[in-house]
Amino acid sequence: MERKYKHLFFDLDHTLWDFEANSEETLIELFDSFHLNKYFDDFNDFHARYETHNLYLWSQYRKGNVDKKTLNTQRFYLPFSEVGFDDIAIAQEFAKQYLAVSPTKTRLFPNTIEVLKKLQPHYQMHIITNGFREVQSKKLKNSGLAPFFKNIYISELIGVQKPHPYFFDYFIRSCNTSKKEALVIGDSLEADIEGAIKAGIDQVFFNSKQLQHEKNITHEISALDQLLPLLL
Ligand SMILES: [Mg+2]
Repeated sequence: MERKYKHLFFDLDHTLWDFEANSEETLIELFDSFHLNKYFDDFNDFHARYETHNLYLWSQYRKGNVDKKTLNTQRFYLPFSEVGFDDIAIAQEFAKQYLAVSPTKTRLFPNTIEVLKKLQPHYQMHIITNGFREVQSKKLKNSGLAPFFKNIYISELIGVQKPHPYFFDYFIRSCNTSKKEALVIGDSLEADIEGAIKAGIDQVFFNSKQLQHEKNITHEISALDQLLPLLL
């Protein structure tokens, strides 16, 4: 059978690597080791405050309004200072440990490895990610994902973030393929799906949370094993 696509470009965080579960596990450990129960009502109080700041700072980072160092420290410093724990040095140390510990976590979305094993004989597979370069390779290695992927495209090394069209043109050129033979698979409507649409590349929206949207997307799935009937 002649397959439509030759190259599959997977986002990593929230698409294969279960970012939420792995991040929460890390934050629970650090919450205890930094004795944050002295300042917050409980872990959930800290986590909710952190999430608010983290989401906002990431959106600013993608737009180029804040740098990586600011994002990384402020997402902890801001929730700390909200509860009267105004210590930038501790926030910096917390941020450092978060980046050291989280990539050692290995939870993946259900059936990730099984699905990749079945796709591997038929496709060249690659990672396209906006995550920090020093953690993404460790995550891939520790979680057993690394052997499935030929190239790892990291926005920091390319110089722009998804959804910037240059990012998409870059990996197509680098793989010596065409946009017609490529498929982008990701969980972010903004970074992955809109980016691919604008670049003229077909997309699979991994909508595990069943979000409502108005976009005209090539394919949509709510679990990774739904890729198999689409691609095999
Ligand atoms: Mg993602």
